[in-house]
Amino acid sequence: MNIETLTLEAIRDGIRERNFTSEEVVTALFDRIKLIEPKVNAYITLCEEEALAQSKLIDKKIENGEKVGILAGVPIAIKDNICTDGIKTTCASKMLEDFIPPYDAFVIKKLKEADAIIIGKTNMDEFAMGSSTENSAFKKTKNPWDLERVPGGSSGGSASVVGACIAPASLGSDTGGSIRQPAAFCGVVGLKPTYGLVSRFGLIAFGSSLDQIGPLSKNVRDNALILEVIQGHDPLDNTSTKNEIQKEYLKTIDSGVKGMKIGIPRQFFKDGLDSEISEAVLNAIEKYKELGAEVEEIDLPITEEGLSAYYIISSAEASSNLARFDGIRYGFRPQNFESVDELIEQSRSQAFGAEVKRRIMLGTYALSSGYYDAYYNRAQKLKKKISIQFKEAFEKYDVLLSPVSPVLPFKCGEKTNNPLEMYLADIYTINVNLAGIPALSLPCAFSKSGLPIGLQIIGSHFGEDKIFKAAYALEKSLGITGKTPVL
Ligand code: GLN
Repeated sequence: MNIETLTLEAIRDGIRERNFTSEEVVTALFDRIKLIEPKVNAYITLCEEEALAQSKLIDKKIENGEKVGILAGVPIAIKDNICTDGIKTTCASKMLEDFIPPYDAFVIKKLKEADAIIIGKTNMDEFAMGSSTENSAFKKTKNPWDLERVPGGSSGGSASVVGACIAPASLGSDTGGSIRQPAAFCGVVGLKPTYGLVSRFGLIAFGSSLDQIGPLSKNVRDNALILEVIQGHDPLDNTSTKNEIQKEYLKTIDSGVKGMKIGIPRQFFKDGLDSEISEAVLNAIEKYKELGAEVEEIDLPITEEGLSAYYIISSAEASSNLARFDGIRYGFRPQNFESVDELIEQSRSQAFGAEVKRRIMLGTYALSSGYYDAYYNRAQKLKKKISIQFKEAFEKYDVLLSPVSPVLPFKCGEKTNNPLEMYLADIYTINVNLAGIPALSLPCAFSKSGLPIGLQIIGSHFGEDKIFKAAYALEKSLGITGKTPVL
């Protein structure tokens, strides 16, 4: 079996049609993981025994003709900030190094109901703060297309495992770009769904008003298939949507882009954008015209302010969310302390990394009574305005296109001493989180040096169906998916 070339759907169908068993798939995958994982360092925890046991159970069910779920026997990897019952969930932090959740996140419950198999937990920036996965307390993940470069972040592990073909698909989380940017860096498809479409129950919170869980996959169809499984109302998340939602994206995915109205926000093509990325995105736009879409340039001026609003809001929420990690209720317990205050101080000083501390301090400052209006309140107003501008754009357009990242995957260590430069990696992705809308990163070209380039397709609230249609049409016409790195 050529496990590295198989998509999630192909694995699912192969098991269903009894061309191979789930046990054979899981065994082949772990054989490959043993070879490739030491090169990319993308997993924090592997669940080989449990996965094999699970695959045997599912094979039995299929053999006996019992009813099985829509992802029966299919392996999937999970970002390590999504709680998995009985499996360590560390957030790539010393703070949660030994944390074993006693429950499953909503998305994990859904995957299990669909009979998917969890194969491991992936590396990430500590508490999902970062753009290169270099903020992990445990290991540095590599980009499968160039092992000297970063995989992006914060879901760098989840993107790297799919890019390196050591998982057919994975889940990540996206607060300001953390699914889309690493997907672009690793040459895979990554979707940040509409805020509220996928429950955040069991996702360890960073910026709760921005966080969303979403799929990373080899192609667009697999992405839609996973979203069908993990989306839906959850009474345990009070921001989870109660709206009627589109249930079956795959049914309409192949209807093409003829007559589709596409907007190109001028503000996303300014100084600082790498020329090869700009060229690749312009080529994609030309392709859309050839495919029959109507393309126009538009203005979204307020989005230029998004980055500053994002770093105030996400840090403010993080400072509040991370208050629970004190060595008492949760987290690392220091060896020596003489008072409760000292216990808390030592727990947080010793177990949080530099970037997490920076965000907590920034957020606490922005929320302090003297500065609340000047920072947090102003950032909230900007968020609202950004949301309105997108809403107006979607009265005229079905989807918007832009680059995902202004730069190609950068070298490991290149930006670690310059947090501000690292923050700029999100300049094209954060506005989408502020507006609560969905966006997908689609591989659209390779640079001269062989590095993947991503195109961002942005949709309106609950407009995932249009995003998938647009992405699938381009994917088919470009024909670059399925290319795998030499490792
Ligand atoms: N890179 C951004 C940050 O550091 C986004 C992170 C994310 O989406 N989780 O905050």
